Amino acid sequence: MNIPIDQERLARTFVQLCEIDSPSRREKGVSDYLIRTFHDLEAASIEEDTSAEQTGSDCGNLIISIPGNKPDLETIFFACHMDVVEPGCGVKVVRTGDIFTSRDDTVLGSDDKSGIAALIELIRILRENKIDHGPIELLFTTCEEIGLLGAKALDCTKMTASFGYALDSTGIDRIITGAPAANKLQIEVHGIAAHAGLHPEQGISALCLTASAIANLRLGRLDEESTANFGLIHGGVATNIIPDHITLEGEVRSHSLQKLAAHTEKIKRTFQQVIECWPLPPGKRDEDETPAQERATLGNPIPAALTPAPSVEINVQLEYPAMRLELSDPVLARVNQAGLNLGRNLEFQIAGGGSDANILNSFGLPTAIIATGMDKVHTTDECLDLKDLIRLTELLFAIVVA
Ligand SMILES: [Zn+2]
Repeated sequence: MNIPIDQERLARTFVQLCEIDSPSRREKGVSDYLIRTFHDLEAASIEEDTSAEQTGSDCGNLIISIPGNKPDLETIFFACHMDVVEPGCGVKVVRTGDIFTSRDDTVLGSDDKSGIAALIELIRILRENKIDHGPIELLFTTCEEIGLLGAKALDCTKMTASFGYALDSTGIDRIITGAPAANKLQIEVHGIAAHAGLHPEQGISALCLTASAIANLRLGRLDEESTANFGLIHGGVATNIIPDHITLEGEVRSHSLQKLAAHTEKIKRTFQQVIECWPLPPGKRDEDETPAQERATLGNPIPAALTPAPSVEINVQLEYPAMRLELSDPVLARVNQAGLNLGRNLEFQIAGGGSDANILNSFGLPTAIIATGMDKVHTTDECLDLKDLIRLTELLFAIVVA
């Protein structure tokens, strides 16, 4: 297959995109660039949706439609996110041979601008060479890196494609066909404050309650399909005050919804049991041995001078649903055929992370994830090899002309 990619133009586009600031909620610079670019490429329509009202971004998601001239091919879409993680402003791209990195202490932004650059080059070569292809939709989302907010706020009735591909993964010639669901946990542990030097026996440390619960839990990899982590902890006022409030934020992920629920429940029960069984300070013990949790909500059986018993509030939110595609699904069959047409052995894999594809699949839009060559993402060592970016563009070409 002869694919007329202009490699240096592709490299220039990639560098230009990386050097436009686009932290989450400030994607407008990239959005304006895309509107200009696809206007010049005579897109049939360029629409910005109203998701900014929900996401708080300075622009909405962009949906761009490129008409096809092969009536037997169904409409497919490609999606990329426009935002990058911090530190991602003031990026200066350094090119050493074919390798792109960032100067200074920023990420490069190949996550996800590698995908965007490949799509621009794809449409350019289709246009310039008058190549027959099926109809294409391009979706550029905001706020992916801060909880898939743009995709969650997308009005998917605006999408007409039957299925598509999110270009957003490390590696190359790799297709992600499944990803876990995730619960986000916010846990508020309340103890009793007291002066740590004068009368520590009157206090209950929220930190000790938290530590005891964590020590009774398994975190990290829970089973072959599930993981759990607490990544943020806040609390305390001074070294001489027993802390009465700890906030803990974490997540549980699983490819199985049943296991997701079970692991989440186990965490909730562990915190509740630790609180219920914790000995109260002298003088704070109830006559009737009512469990601590209920004591706090039972009106006021405790003398007014005493502070409430320890308690815990646990908030669980489904961060994103799981995705799972089968090799027989048209979305995978099409990319598999494209790989064969290029003489490549694509790898089909399950991933451990969530992305816009989880949300698009939950809308009923089958979406596979295609690796773009991006590497060491979310670090200042992030890099991209131009040869991989070319391989990605070739694969996209093979998909649209298939
Ligand atoms: Zn990404």
